[in-house]
Amino acid sequence: MDPILNYINGEFQPSATGNTLATVNPATGQTITTLPRSSAEDVALAAQAAQQAGQAWSATTMEERMDWLHRIADALEEEKETIARLESTDTGKPISLARRVDAARSVANFRFFATYGRDHTEPTFADHGAVNHVHRSPIGCVGLITPWNLPLYLLTWKVAPALLMGNTIVAKPSELTPMTAHHFAKVLSKLNFPSGVFNLVHGLGPEVGQAIVEHPNIRGISFTGGTATGKTVAATAAPMFKKLSLELGGKNATVVLDDAPLEEMMDGIVRASFTNSGQVCLCGSRVLVDASIYDRFKAMFVDAVNNIVVGDPTQEDTVMGSVISSDHQTKVEGYIELGRQEGGTVLTGGTARETPVEGVSPAGAFLRPTVIEGLSHTSRTATEEIFGPVVTLHPFTSEEEALEMANATDYGLAGSVWTGDTERGYAFAQQMDTGIVWVNTWLNRDLRTPFGGVKQSGVGREGGAWSLNFFSELTNICVQQP
Ligand code: NAP
Repeated sequence: MDPILNYINGEFQPSATGNTLATVNPATGQTITTLPRSSAEDVALAAQAAQQAGQAWSATTMEERMDWLHRIADALEEEKETIARLESTDTGKPISLARRVDAARSVANFRFFATYGRDHTEPTFADHGAVNHVHRSPIGCVGLITPWNLPLYLLTWKVAPALLMGNTIVAKPSELTPMTAHHFAKVLSKLNFPSGVFNLVHGLGPEVGQAIVEHPNIRGISFTGGTATGKTVAATAAPMFKKLSLELGGKNATVVLDDAPLEEMMDGIVRASFTNSGQVCLCGSRVLVDASIYDRFKAMFVDAVNNIVVGDPTQEDTVMGSVISSDHQTKVEGYIELGRQEGGTVLTGGTARETPVEGVSPAGAFLRPTVIEGLSHTSRTATEEIFGPVVTLHPFTSEEEALEMANATDYGLAGSVWTGDTERGYAFAQQMDTGIVWVNTWLNRDLRTPFGGVKQSGVGREGGAWSLNFFSELTNICVQQP
């Protein structure tokens, strides 16, 4: 495969130093290709290109930009299979999941914002003989920094509204998963998308990501990633008064009330636990179950988890592939060991040595889905983000206790409640300290809704009008009527 290159001012180019990194297929341990190990010098070139392109791009009309978003969506639609294959190879996720979630959503992000822009009108307020007009202008050049779990899905979730609102972009994907971002740049290049409006700089977080956040002409930062990195980003950006959106980690609770019809809901609960090997920020990694149904739930849940087909991500029937890297595998296995040290019992799964996955490359970073019970809900295993295929089970004896347990982490990104009574579920959901709660469903996303977390899961919301607000500056123009 050809080396991955930066995309700056409409040109594919290596890093200024010529240094490179390798990107590895985590399911085989094999190097796929190289990518630039860029530095602040490359970020400066990208920021300069973005700034130069900004005047013409921000002068285009909303209609023209919506038209571009549709053209990009059309082009990505044609490339869906390629995107799915690249994403599956780079992340180790099953090809079926990459098609259904990553490729489909990348198209949907552009399609949604292209259409949403049409419905968008700026408000006016009349009072005291004057009319106030809310005028929007772009922020200017924005920095978009994204993680490895849903690479193109999350990048396009930011690119589409940023472009719609007339901004130019310097983007950095995770160095673990650069392939679909590179492919996206190729798609833009083929479309003759205006040079310098979208720039892509590959490399390491502390080098390229940090340089983006520090660059004085990059006036807004939309960051999705871990909470620890988010703190560094916030500390760097705050004294420069940059506009900042932080979508960070989670340790989400799945709450199963005593009236939940388990046969009907078990598939959804298992999906919420283990989709993408548990590497979705919204996955429910703590399953809180009413004690009166705990034993029945446990038997059904473990049985369903044992039926998950774990294996080669290229196979159509694989439901769970590898985790993102052998380093991450080691981290997740460390938490399984910690769970045991903290008094937990592993009901199924375990480390790769204990329960190897059959028929896959021995160099692949595979883990079986793991369920642990018997831990305190305040243990480290049950409160720290593992971001892998590990779920802990906890019985509760009252809704009050369930709520206390659900809210007992530093995170507050998402959660789900499972019940036979949707009103009861809705009432419970309102008391959860999170940005999103699903009742009797999971990952059911309407792109018009606010997305984001509370506590250490982030600051700000993206999605629908919230994305348009983040990616624009508002000026109130008050005109005295004659
Ligand atoms: P991460 O290590 O925080 O990295 C996220 C991005 O930040 C990567 O592109 C990374 O580059 C870059 N980065 C690292 N250090 C940086 C710095 N000093 N300045 C600027 N950028 C820097 O997160 P990850 O391991 O890729 O992703 C997993 C995390 O993302 C989990 O915590 C998960 O919950 C969270 N997540 C949250 C959401 C949400 O919407 N709330 C969605 C998905 C994932 P390198 O990869 O090159 O280091």
